[in-house]
Amino acid sequence: MDLDLDEHTLAFRDEARAWLADHVPRTPLASFDTAEGFEQHRAWEAQLADARWSAVSWPAEFGGRDASLLEWVILEEEYYASGAPGRVSQNGIFMLAPTLFAHGTPEQRARILPPMARGEEIWAQAWSEPEAGSDIASLRSTAVKTDGGWLLSGQKTWSSRAAFADRAFGLFRSDPESKRHKGLTYFMFDLSASGVQVRPIRQLDGEPGFAEIFLDEVFVPDTDVIGEPGAGWRVAMTTANNERGLSLRSPGRFLAAADRLVALWHAHGYPEQVADRVADAWIGARAYQLYTFGTVTKLAEGGELGPESSVNKLFWSHLDVELHETALDLLGPEAELRRPPGSDRIGEQHPGRWLNGWLFSLAGPIYGGTDQIQRNTIAERLLGLPRGDR
Ligand SMILES: Cc1cc2nc3c(=O)[nH]c(=O)nc-3n(C[C@H](O)[C@H](O)[C@H](O)COP(=O)(O)OP(=O)(O)OC[C@H]3O[C@@H](n4cnc5c(N)ncnc54)[C@H](O)[C@@H]3O)c2cc1C
Repeated sequence: MDLDLDEHTLAFRDEARAWLADHVPRTPLASFDTAEGFEQHRAWEAQLADARWSAVSWPAEFGGRDASLLEWVILEEEYYASGAPGRVSQNGIFMLAPTLFAHGTPEQRARILPPMARGEEIWAQAWSEPEAGSDIASLRSTAVKTDGGWLLSGQKTWSSRAAFADRAFGLFRSDPESKRHKGLTYFMFDLSASGVQVRPIRQLDGEPGFAEIFLDEVFVPDTDVIGEPGAGWRVAMTTANNERGLSLRSPGRFLAAADRLVALWHAHGYPEQVADRVADAWIGARAYQLYTFGTVTKLAEGGELGPESSVNKLFWSHLDVELHETALDLLGPEAELRRPPGSDRIGEQHPGRWLNGWLFSLAGPIYGGTDQIQRNTIAERLLGLPRGDR
């Protein structure tokens, strides 16, 4: 692609930059992994939606701007560079919404997307189960057909945002005779519905970043099935490729962190012993940006995200860990400082954000599919190597 932005894209970037400069809260919001912070972030989502910055690539009828993917990537760069709050709505906007565009009905899109864009309905991803993490196809939660809908039962775990979220999306076995990828159905359900119990789980930083969800014959209407009953695996692959491939972690996040790392290096008097690692982190973030432009071009030309998403996921998760480890080494004794409990990860100058950022980066090689799983995918589906024993 041509890396010089055209006038239209430059105008979009300038508009976003100006709006963010005027509106990003000067006092960081509380962490969205606390009840208070969750509500503050919900209000921020509404503010973004009012100015139509919440989901720019969506059609205007759902609150978007009909923006191109390139414009979305540019917005993300501006967003993170401005120190704006993390997106509490990210599961919905970046994973469920693309799934609804690909497999949902017009009724579902009209009903679900506008309140999602405004933060009125915040979504959790209810995929993992105690015995089904890497191997989702071994999931045991069930869906039994009843009049006008389904009864969901079982247990989900590690569900980010579920401690405070409103709704969740997940896969359930709807055909008891089926095995593995067959006979699964993709549902949306209310976390406050009768029969649902949510138990928060504390993360490394002490806050309830995710939760377990217990379901006991929870009624879900037919209108909350995405795609055909029994064909949930195909629908789930759209969500997974979006999670790994582009939308969950745009380059903007790493570009902003790499720039902060360079600034930290300057502030510490350019210590030579970490110079190469600082340069590697900065180059890695730029390389990911350029690779993303390539992905955007491919998608704009009608291509689809496929197993190469695994290369992407492996790359950014390691970049994030190495970038934060370099910052901690640079900080020396100050690296022991943590951000004040309850404050946001993004949008503050406290040195403790590096330790908190590092703690979170350690999860990158796990969530969205572990490193080992990405490597299996790369080996088998991209390199054509034989399938290992499992
Ligand atoms: C911060 C965070 C947020 C998360 N958020 C969500 C969420 O919102 N929703 C959700 O549903 N889940 C979420 N998860 C769960 C995450 O998706 C799972 O932890 C992940 O898929 C791994 O599954 P598991 O923990 O069951 O580990 P297991 O699948 O039990 O794996 C254990 C180890 O064995 C390895 N392994 C397993 N199978 C193979 C194989 N075939 N070949 C080689 N190695 C293998 C794995 O790589 C891993 O190292 C989150 C996790 C974290 C850490």
